[in-house]
Amino acid sequence: MGTFKALRIDKADKGTTAQITQFDEAELMDGDVTVRVEWSTLNYKDGLALTGKAPVVRRFPMIAGIDFAGTVEKSTSPDWKTGDRVVCNGWGMGETHLGAYAEKARVKGDWLVKLPDGISTRDAMAIGTAGYTAMLAVMALEDHGLKAVSGAVVVTGAAGGVGSVATAILSKLGYHVIASTGRAAEADYLRALGAAEIIDRAELAATPRPLNKERWAGGVDSVGSTTLANLLSMTKYGGAIAACGLAAGMDLPTSVAPFILRGVCLLGIDSVMCEISRRRTAWQRLARDLDKSKLTEMTAEIPLDQVLDAGARILAGQVRGRTVVKIT
Ligand code: NDP
Repeated sequence: MGTFKALRIDKADKGTTAQITQFDEAELMDGDVTVRVEWSTLNYKDGLALTGKAPVVRRFPMIAGIDFAGTVEKSTSPDWKTGDRVVCNGWGMGETHLGAYAEKARVKGDWLVKLPDGISTRDAMAIGTAGYTAMLAVMALEDHGLKAVSGAVVVTGAAGGVGSVATAILSKLGYHVIASTGRAAEADYLRALGAAEIIDRAELAATPRPLNKERWAGGVDSVGSTTLANLLSMTKYGGAIAACGLAAGMDLPTSVAPFILRGVCLLGIDSVMCEISRRRTAWQRLARDLDKSKLTEMTAEIPLDQVLDAGARILAGQVRGRTVVKIT
């Protein structure tokens, strides 16, 4: 057994430290599949873990990184063999289980999803947990009964990772997408992804009224707090909002009015412990319903040694779309 390159988080007197170092393969945690990681990515949660701004990491030392794509190197799982191309999102990686910013990862075979044909390991991480979560949100809205003919859909944090992928998918599915952003300079970018209208996120930042003018039939929210409360108050009778994020805060200053007077539904989206069959469906849907050209448009690439800087920038709302991290 040898060593491999990894981004290691350690506990310090005050907070945590993060550095790229050599990690001993013998210290990898339990799992029946060892994967040669080719690509990882930068998600908002990675920013929280890398900077120590929230207690994401709950075991030390930790290898940061909540998702990877790569090739199976060794397997004792009957489901996987050497050379299989796989993607892994969440399951506590980078939190309680050694994570993805490393040349090797050892995980349970049950956590892995086979990459659909047509999605490279780099594409998989251009999509990443943010994009797979956007797909879960779209699937939840569809399960609720939302269709393109139901009316417009709103996407908040639209220039971010979840928002960019949600905008691209929903527009490909024929929806009239209203993209909410605080970055007016990204209007052309959002139109290129398929947004039909752009609104200033300040419109959704006022103190929420219990009910407001009905503006959309559904939505994907990665912002939370007052924004989500405003979204609910502006959702049409019988509509639904899929809540997946907290970029503006964890609170939700709403009332029961949208639920009991308009039959609006709030759909919770969790990517971390989502069951495996729904993940497989989400990845198949991403292969079908996300335009490769739009994915390219929204994706930047960085090497592992730039991920610490990028982690601070994503928390500051300065990262547009998706960022892939080249590992090997
Ligand atoms: P990004 O940082 O890429 O996107 C977040 C976007 O939110 C920003 O780009 C910005 O969009 C907007 N935003 C940021 N701060 C504020 C603010 N104070 N008020 C209003 N809008 C703000 O992050 P991701 O897309 O990776 O993640 C988005 C959220 O979803 C995070 O909270 C993350 O933790 C969560 N998430 C949850 C998952 C789950 O399983 N439920 C999985 C993945 C992510 P703009 O500039 O366009 O206004």
